[in-house]
Amino acid sequence: NLSDKLDKALHVLKGHGQITEVNVAETLKEVRRALVDADVNFKTAKNFTNTVKEKALGQDVLTALKPGQLMVKLVKDELTELMGGDAEGINLSGNPSVILMSGLQGSGKTTFSGKLANYLKTKKTKNPLLVACDVYRPAAIDQLHVVGDQIGVEVFSDREEKNPVAISQKAIAYAKEHGHNVVIIDTAGRLAVDEAMMNEISDIHKAIQPQETLFVVDSMTGQDAVNTAKAFNDTLNFDGVILTKLDGDTRGGAAISIKSVVNKPIKFIGTGEKMEAIDVFYPSRMADRILGMGDVVSLVERAQEQYDEEEARKLQKKIAKNQFGFDDFLNQIQQVKKMGNMKDLIGMIPGAGKAMKDIDIDDDAFKHIEAIIHSMTPEERSTPSLINASRKQRIGKGSGTSVTQVNQLLKQFDQMSKMMKMMQGGGGKKMMQMMRG
Ligand code: GDP
Ligand code: MG
Repeated sequence: NLSDKLDKALHVLKGHGQITEVNVAETLKEVRRALVDADVNFKTAKNFTNTVKEKALGQDVLTALKPGQLMVKLVKDELTELMGGDAEGINLSGNPSVILMSGLQGSGKTTFSGKLANYLKTKKTKNPLLVACDVYRPAAIDQLHVVGDQIGVEVFSDREEKNPVAISQKAIAYAKEHGHNVVIIDTAGRLAVDEAMMNEISDIHKAIQPQETLFVVDSMTGQDAVNTAKAFNDTLNFDGVILTKLDGDTRGGAAISIKSVVNKPIKFIGTGEKMEAIDVFYPSRMADRILGMGDVVSLVERAQEQYDEEEARKLQKKIAKNQFGFDDFLNQIQQVKKMGNMKDLIGMIPGAGKAMKDIDIDDDAFKHIEAIIHSMTPEERSTPSLINASRKQRIGKGSGTSVTQVNQLLKQFDQMSKMMKMMQGGGGKKMMQMMRG
């Protein structure tokens, strides 16, 4: 993927103190190739590397104290600029503010509608109404209801009405009557851009004149994403882009290409299937991510949001006193699960993303661990050193796992305890250095 390629391209510059004009040119050639491979169109990529080269020469990279770092910074700054300036919010000035979702089927409109409703409800204390406007698939209406129930947001639907324009108008009237100050309209998509879909979304758009029209796109669809974005923008002149599925093996190029082709801001990103997996799009963080520096800022913010501070203090005390046990471990696992997808989180730690790429971590991995801990007695949980061979056998049987798996967990637990002690003793910095490698 793009990160790996750029990583390789920048390796020379990062690793070596010395830099020559030849290797600036070589590196930029690699950077350009990486961008093109990641579906950035050739012209954009070429302009990009030319600009970086000019700036590099202007700043006299060759004689700089740390030329490698300076180059990385130039590439990063330029990528950031290419993806847009500061994060742009959603226009919530209407009463109600109407937000229209557009995009192909499977791009993540329904999921994102739920995420956005949840985000606006919790962060901006709004009272959103979700509207089901997919009149072709009854299952789509059900899906939105499931989402609404999950986040505690009301869903407006009308299974008798087959005209999406009429549904949206009824929904807006309903919102006014019932004090909903935001209306999020989830629409139907098709597998490819076609006239019928464009006419339908365009009719809705004209009739309701939304404050905000968002184009939702699957970041894994590469160059197609750019063509789709262009088609929708030509019809709707939309206000912003939502980039979904950035948690998978994504081609970061979509963010760069879409922005440069339609010149509309990317407003939010989707990073998982859960309702919490939504983030404001920050170009500089995305650039970091593409460059493999890790999205530390996002990680820290997300961890802070989800993590109960009181719990954290208690835990710190326990670690300091060597009283960290399996009950706390279980608690930790639950905290981590709340934060979202594990791979996603690990990818945000600098260096760790690459190192742990091959390890298969999914939320299921926790199931065994939880089962094993549940089969321990309270004494065993608080004093793991009690767990001898016969206890291991009992725990293995009780949890439907093997002694090997129990041993594995004990070992992991031991390592984790050690790591935590290290982070405690002002070793946090040391840890980060270790992770950076
Ligand atoms: P729609 O047809 O545009 O309404 O798309 P859906 O919201 O139904 O999403 C299609 C599929 O993509 C569903 O299985 C979602 O769970 C999944 N999905 C949506 N957003 C994300 C995301 O950010 N990350 C991941 N991994 N999956 C997503
Ligand atoms: Mg849908």
